[in-house]
Formats: sequence, structure tokens, C-alpha cells
Amino acid sequence: MNSTEATRTNLLGMPRDKLAAFFVARGEKRFRADQLMKWLYHRGVSDLAQMTDLSSALREQLALDTEFRFPEITWNHVSTDGTRKWLIQVEGGGSVETVFIPEGKRGTLCVSSQVGCTLDCSFCSTGKQGFQRNLSAAEIIAQVWIAQAALAEASDSEARLTNVVFMGMGEPLLNLDAVLDAISIMTEDLGYGLSRRRVTVSTAGVVPGIERLGREADVSLAISLHAPFDELRNTLVPVNRKYPIAKLLEACRGYLGTTAARKSITIEYTLMAGVNDQPEHAVALAELLEGFPCKLNLIPFNPFPNSGYRRPSNVAVRAFQARLQRQGFIVTVRTTRGDDIDAACGQLVGDVHDRTRRSDRYIARVSAQDAAQISGTA
Ligand code: SAH
Repeated sequence: MNSTEATRTNLLGMPRDKLAAFFVARGEKRFRADQLMKWLYHRGVSDLAQMTDLSSALREQLALDTEFRFPEITWNHVSTDGTRKWLIQVEGGGSVETVFIPEGKRGTLCVSSQVGCTLDCSFCSTGKQGFQRNLSAAEIIAQVWIAQAALAEASDSEARLTNVVFMGMGEPLLNLDAVLDAISIMTEDLGYGLSRRRVTVSTAGVVPGIERLGREADVSLAISLHAPFDELRNTLVPVNRKYPIAKLLEACRGYLGTTAARKSITIEYTLMAGVNDQPEHAVALAELLEGFPCKLNLIPFNPFPNSGYRRPSNVAVRAFQARLQRQGFIVTVRTTRGDDIDAACGQLVGDVHDRTRRSDRYIARVSAQDAAQISGTA
């Protein structure tokens, strides 16, 4: 990157109010922001020359010190069932993954919010590789852009991008500034215009983040619970030591409100054989969540090398589900999608060559189908 590029303002990923302020500071009218957003997010145009309702003088001026900076797609693939996956390289060398799961006319995009993760959940491959950095709002919204562009090109597919879940790599509530800006563009009419109910933030339980999300956005919330007792959850999700289950559920209650997006919270529960899948866990979970407005999503553990955990049998998974259903809970279980491309949402790979060989470096996390179910398209 040369020095001119380094000082250019990236207009991609700027929410409407910031973009308007940017134009006002240059002596332009606020509505320039609206015009620019329509080009970018409605028409998928990132070439200033094509933005013909901006005066040529303004376009020339913008060309001098602004840009639309996208991360690079290093690999992408479409599965036989239509699931699409992209490996995206960001500045600094790290990579994240984005997965699109079609479901009839609807479709869910699973986006990443960080390169790596600081939370180190014991069963999660991202935690094992440490934390590299937060993604910028531009890098998050670029994942939506990339998927939209691919869908626009694929005339054979009727699927539209209707849902977004933050269930790729990273903890979205630890990168909330960028995540909030990206959410604003996802749900803004001049952006992607998605229903707030259909944008889901998934968290391992960062309580202050839940509180701030509640104040500053109105989207669906999913909690990665994975255990009904603090003692067990401390070992699986270490952030539980800081924000134990009671505090977490209290924050969730605070999040609940009157809008469609806030009527109910999704509880994610990754099932690991012999660890958290026993009858006593189901019973304790039902007691813990009694009267709590939620839907449960059970995720049979996705194995990866040296994880130390096993996926329970289908029979065990169904038994766990049935116990909770008998207590009146709505409980969904993952079914497999995009198998031929290892389409596990947010799985990070070492490099592209390994990925194309489907090598044993396969690192599975939540599957694409889980993401679709959680966001309500399944
Ligand atoms: N940091 C966010 C997003 C993580 S990915 C969060 O914790 O919610 C979304 C889900 O995948 C989380 O519920 C996470 O616990 C789960 N997950 C991670 N690794 C997994 C694995 N190997 N098998 C099954 N689910 C996994």
C-alpha cells in the first residue's frame, strides 16, 4: 500500500449517519450519502465513474482521497445443495469464512466478525488458533456484498439473501463498534434493507455487550449456552467465570422487549458426548430455562483434530431433544447441508490449498444448517 492509499477514506461500511457527516464536512448535501449508498448496496456498483447522479466534479474529488476497499476472495465454492462458501483474506494476512445457505426463496448468510477469537471456548477451533484482530465494518459488510454479487450472477438460483447470522469466526460483542455499523447497513433501507428480526447476533455471553446491543440496535439475539451449570460452563466457555449463567440470563431478560426481534432468544447448545448430553443436563436445562422466552437449537459437536470431544450418536441427540420437548420447549436439531464443501459456518482454514484438497485440517464449527435454523429459515 502506498502512502496515498493509506490515507484514503474507505466509504464501504460507513453507516448512513457517518457517510452523511462525511459529505457535510466536505460542504456537500447530506443526501449525497443516500445516493452513494444506493449505488453501493442496492446496485452493487463500486465504480465512482458509474455513479452518474453525483456530479463529475464531486466524483473527481472523491477519486482523489476516498476508495471502496474490499478484502480479497481467495477461494469460493458452491455445494451440490446450493450452499456457497467463501474464504476471504483480509489485510494483514488473516482469513475468515462466509457461508450462504439457500432455503427455497430465502437464504441465510453466516458472517465472521473477528479474525480468530479471544474467548478460547474449549470445543471451538477458532479459539485454538488465537486472536489476530477485529474486522472493520467494511470487512463485515463486504461479506454481504460478496454474497449478493454471487447471487445476482447465479441466474439459476431463486434464493435471496434474507437473513444474516453472526455465527462465523469471532465474538461479535467484543467488536461491537464495527458490528453495529455493519448491522446499520444491513437493516437500513438504503443499505440491504433486511428485517431486524432476521439479523441475529450470537454471543458466548459477553454481558456488557448484550446490554449495549440492546440500547443501540434491535436485532435477534442467540446465546451460546452449552451447559446448565456454572461449574461445567466454566470449563467449556471460560468467559462464564466473568459472567456466570445467572448474570447472562438476567442480561437476556433485559434484552427482551416488545419488538419481533426481541420476543424470544435462541439458546445454542452444542452437544458433546458424555460431557453435556446426559439426562441430568437436559433436566437441569429445562429447569434453568423454565418460563424464559426462548427457542433451543441443539448442535451436535462438529469434530476437528485433537479436539478431545466426540459428537453424540443421533439417538442420544434425539433423546436429549425429546426430553426438552416434553417440557414444552421448541427444540431444533442441526441437519447436514453443504457436506461436499465442508460448509461449516465460520470454520477457519490454514490455507487455500488445504481447503481445496478437503484435507484433514478441516476444522468444523457450527454448521451452515444450524445457522439457517437459528435464523429461522429452516
Ligand atoms: N462467538 C459467538 C459466535 C460463535 S460461532 C458465540 O459464541 O456465539 C456460533 C456457534 O458455534 C456457537 O454457539 C459456538 O459455541 C458453536 N461452535 C463452536 N465450535 C463448535 C463445534 N466444534 N461444534 C459445534 N458447535 C460449535
